[in-house]
Amino acid sequence: MNCYDCHDQERPATVAVALCIRCGAALCTAHSQTRPVPVHRVRGMGLATSPHLARRITCTVCHKAEAGS
Ligand SMILES: [Zn+2]
Ligand SMILES: [Zn+2]
Repeated sequence: MNCYDCHDQERPATVAVALCIRCGAALCTAHSQTRPVPVHRVRGMGLATSPHLARRITCTVCHKAEAGS
């Protein structure tokens, strides 16, 4: 599969290495945005946060939309 953003911007086809979690677009390394996210789990009476951060990958479009700018 090739990068959707490269295709959209009429750049040469680039092999995709990830998928946007929000829109499902296949992405190359230049177009994927990786963000660490905390993981919450229900434990006992409350919520516990994992000491390790999970990973969230989005495309540049969804990254901009989520950042609100
Ligand atoms: Zn790309
Ligand atoms: Zn996206």
